[in-house]
Amino acid sequence: MGETGKLALVVGGSRGIGRAIVARLAAAGFDIWLSYRGNHGAAQEARAAVEACGRSCRLLAFDLSDRAATRAALEPLLQSCCPEVLVFNAGIARDNLLAFMTDEEWDAVLRTNLDGFFNVVKPVIFEMIRRKSGRVVVISSLSGQVGQAGQVNYSAAKAGLIGAARALAREVGRKNIFVNVVSPGVIETEMTAELPKDQILPLIPLHRFGTAEEVASVVHFLCAEPAMYIHGQVIGVNGGMAV
Ligand code: NDP
Repeated sequence: MGETGKLALVVGGSRGIGRAIVARLAAAGFDIWLSYRGNHGAAQEARAAVEACGRSCRLLAFDLSDRAATRAALEPLLQSCCPEVLVFNAGIARDNLLAFMTDEEWDAVLRTNLDGFFNVVKPVIFEMIRRKSGRVVVISSLSGQVGQAGQVNYSAAKAGLIGAARALAREVGRKNIFVNVVSPGVIETEMTAELPKDQILPLIPLHRFGTAEEVASVVHFLCAEPAMYIHGQVIGVNGGMAV
């Protein structure tokens, strides 16, 4: 229980990969602030898993694409306490070929996946800088590294996150704040439930989808490893899809 007493903010922690990250960090001793948009039942299940580990879990329901709502949710909390760890995991996909993509599909993905990063990370990093310590892990995607047909919006946002995280790493390294990116391939969650498995598996050298727990274990390493010289890196968890 080496992390007991430390606090982790997991953004998008109610379901899928985020929920696995929450469970993994709680098992390692972190108390949790769990943010989500509106799926209260899922968030309560995730909180129960944290409490079963003997840790506390504060649920924060807000739409992170809404800057004012995000500030209203986070700033009062940050006045008295700042998380040691921030995992920016929330994201959505609205797939379509660019020629047919609607304004709503473009805007929703960019506002959630990329503007959301600014809305959340800015107030937290300000407090981490004051404290001169912290760990930030950003969940991007293989689509942001290689580009994916039908996901011009999503690939742009996820590539943007990689650029943002690398730039931030250069800004805050001297303040003892580590910033890294975890970039999953295809992971079994609700987001990928409808994908044609038979067409995708031949593209994956390990010949299976990844699990949320496999992503969570890499995030945990980046959050908790005491001797860290990994900074500004993009760590793929993709079964060999990009080698
Ligand atoms: P899920 O759809 O299962 O969960 C998404 C999480 O983000 C939920 O907690 C959801 O809250 C939250 N969220 C979504 N939109 C908002 C918003 N506007 N404001 C606040 N919270 C929001 O996603 P996954 O677990 O599959 O994916 C997690 C991350 O990993 C995403 O960033 C995704 O892009 C990335 N990723 C996923 C891959 C995969 O194969 N699954 C592959 C590569 C990257 P709520 O429950 O309330 O809706």
